[in-house]
Amino acid sequence: MSTITNHLPTAELQALDAAHHMHPFTANDELAKKGARVITRASGIYLTDSEGEEILDAMAGLWCVNIGYGRDELADVAARQMRELPYYNSFFMTTHVPAIALANKIAELAPGDLNHVFFAGGGSEANDTNIRMVRTYWANKGKPEKSVIISRKNAYHGSTVGSGSLGGMAPMHAQGGLPIPDIHHISQPNWWAEGGDATPEAFGLACAQELEEAILELGEDRVAAFIAEPVQGAGGVIVAPDTYWPEIQRICDKYEILLIADEVICGFGRTGNWFGSQTVGIQPHIMTIAKGLSSGYAPIGGSIVCDEVAAVIGQDEFNHGYTYSGHPVAAAVALENLRIIEEEDIVGHVQQVAGPYLKEKWEGLMDHPLVGEAKIVGMMASIALTPDKASRAKFASAPGTVGYVCRDRCFGNNLIMRHVGDRMIISPPLILSPADIDEMIRRIRKSLDEAHQDLIDKDLM
Ligand code: PMP
Repeated sequence: MSTITNHLPTAELQALDAAHHMHPFTANDELAKKGARVITRASGIYLTDSEGEEILDAMAGLWCVNIGYGRDELADVAARQMRELPYYNSFFMTTHVPAIALANKIAELAPGDLNHVFFAGGGSEANDTNIRMVRTYWANKGKPEKSVIISRKNAYHGSTVGSGSLGGMAPMHAQGGLPIPDIHHISQPNWWAEGGDATPEAFGLACAQELEEAILELGEDRVAAFIAEPVQGAGGVIVAPDTYWPEIQRICDKYEILLIADEVICGFGRTGNWFGSQTVGIQPHIMTIAKGLSSGYAPIGGSIVCDEVAAVIGQDEFNHGYTYSGHPVAAAVALENLRIIEEEDIVGHVQQVAGPYLKEKWEGLMDHPLVGEAKIVGMMASIALTPDKASRAKFASAPGTVGYVCRDRCFGNNLIMRHVGDRMIISPPLILSPADIDEMIRRIRKSLDEAHQDLIDKDLM
């Protein structure tokens, strides 16, 4: 076989890809016909593909490249760590300096008494840890029957059998016999799609109160925890009405239910604070982290655990762990990433510069005929496409048809923007300057205009 490098023609790379590479969340036969876009390099907020096109990455990869692409410091740290100690584990009464340093740094950054870190390879593994952790917590406290975890429909918590069960994605549950036992789902606070005639405030409260109803129905003595993303990401950047989170916190406190905040997207500056929990005003017992922890430069995630839960788990052997828990190279890269976020005040940049500027421009998209709602928290944002704003109407076509048309136009304009059904979402690198935001918004407007014309031409609105 010839050596496969960036220098091969695109069609050849696509054929080799289709022959042997199975893509996640993809209809692989369809992709094989179309050919995958081949990304060859990246710098700052731009990707380069095998045709030499420069693409503005308004998704920061998969919501993860918070500090942008091409930071040599992270590459240098990785090379240094690989030479010094490329691998060792933290099983069997052993540790190493990168894991010690990273756990200490995370404990310093995390709010309240979230002082303990259990490492994983990514967000899905960390949420699997959380399932076992909260059930073990209650078992160690003499209440093994407290095993039900309540989550939300349309939540995303990962793709393993455990984390996919926590998530509320119907197509994922439909494949492979999910969910596992003792996972219960309540409504998501998506007022635009599901709020009906209620005000956003009343709807937010009603969604939160479903948690109380579920606890009472299942039995307080059966419920271990509630898990949620502070801002639902993969579900479509769904921002809960203001009434939602205070009520969730009240209910968790009242019934002594552990609160797990899945901060895989929201963590490390995305919402304008270090953690999304701070932005929405909750104090969880456990946080799931990944993505922005290393800005995606190395695969690493984890669970940040409060003093009480860590103490109870620590009473006995916790029969759980991964070969790559606290991997030294990934940990060293993550630590360097956190140094950059802190020293360059990237969280402050989101809070005071990029976030407010993007908010103004984003909400300005409401003047577009296709845009029914524009939601934004820090540097994650969504717009709902609609044929009629006043009635919050859905398109007559199958959900996602219109979103796909718009996503295709974004692709054509060298802009990576994702569609979730007929919602368009962004989650760009946090380092965007106001000039970058102007350029991104220009491409978004152009794509929306073209999509609008397509819909008219194709009789889709
Ligand atoms: N939780 C949330 C909120 C996520 O958005 C994701 C990934 N998109 C995960 C968990 C899973 O993380 P990973 O893909 O690293 O396993």
